[in-house]
Amino acid sequence: MSPPPKTHPAGELAIIAAIRRRVTGKAYPALRLGIGDDCAILAPPSGHDLLVTTDFSLEGRHFRRDWHPARSIGHRTLARGLSDLAAMGAQPMAAFLSLALPRAVAAEPRWLHGFLDGLLALARQHNVPLAGGDTSQAPGDQVLADIVLLGIAPAGAALRRSGARPGDAIYVTGRLGGAAAELELLRRDPKFFRRATPDGQHPHLFPQPRLAAGQSLLRRGLATTCIDLSDGLSTDLAHLCTGSGVAAEIRLAALPRSQLLRRMAPTAARHALLHGGEDYELLFTAPQRVAMPKTLGGVPLTRIGTILRSARSRPQVVTIAANGKRAPLAPGGWEHFA
Ligand code: ADP
Ligand code: MG
Repeated sequence: MSPPPKTHPAGELAIIAAIRRRVTGKAYPALRLGIGDDCAILAPPSGHDLLVTTDFSLEGRHFRRDWHPARSIGHRTLARGLSDLAAMGAQPMAAFLSLALPRAVAAEPRWLHGFLDGLLALARQHNVPLAGGDTSQAPGDQVLADIVLLGIAPAGAALRRSGARPGDAIYVTGRLGGAAAELELLRRDPKFFRRATPDGQHPHLFPQPRLAAGQSLLRRGLATTCIDLSDGLSTDLAHLCTGSGVAAEIRLAALPRSQLLRRMAPTAARHALLHGGEDYELLFTAPQRVAMPKTLGGVPLTRIGTILRSARSRPQVVTIAANGKRAPLAPGGWEHFA
């Protein structure tokens, strides 16, 4: 029998102190008081609405510790919340992290620091402070994280899912299907991705929330609606149509395909493109007369279809193939308890 591992169990206080050491230093305009007291104190600028979003990242559900490097898990935990703010055109103001760690993980500083490396690097990139949270021992042997993001948008101007009109053009940022494709590659060989870096184009491990694009859409008044692609195109476009009481058609040949799709069989690639979740690109609509720029916030924009009047006689979303054939597109993306 091998001897028990030499670990130094880290208590809650030691973990909070480690997190706090890594976030102090920089001053943020809206943050009066960060980690260390009973509450954080924020001073949102006047004339703005406060936007709030919260997202779970649960081991076994959203990530696996044997597939995802700790840095990727930290990055993805924050990216989920930032992407929701991006979808509303908001500017992030502060993040709050609730973390439940199994005893064995708490005793292994490397995992926590890897997680924080990923989370804090993305936070720095978008100038958002980690302003507080909660730390607890997990009830089982799985890591549970919950991120809360607060953001601001000029009063009354946040981009919503309601507001698309028949005739509006439908656009997406970036490329689609890459996150699902990379997840499939990860399933085949987790070891291959151990050295993945955020700048190495890893749409699943290190998705880039489109904050600059969302803020630019809001500032320039370009969009009638906006949503982020977290559940997959088919599902999120259905959400947008329901939110606006409209229908939509999309042209399959127009969809901007991730290069990773070339590494998949055609049927799997098509599924990843239409239903694959977690690309965290933005899906938005704008009146046809709006001259849409080719790129926004450094990301390419692609027109993929048109909003139609909703009618009982036709499906909510239809695809148009290169040969002109139309087919209904049922939501086939991510849904819990499905
Ligand atoms: P309290 O018991 O008063 O709720 P805690 O001991 O839980 O306070 O937390 C102390 C401070 O550390 C608080 O400012 C809290 O926001 C912060 N904190 C706790 N856990 C985390 C975490 N996982 N990430 C960021 N800040 C945290
Ligand atoms: Mg607490």
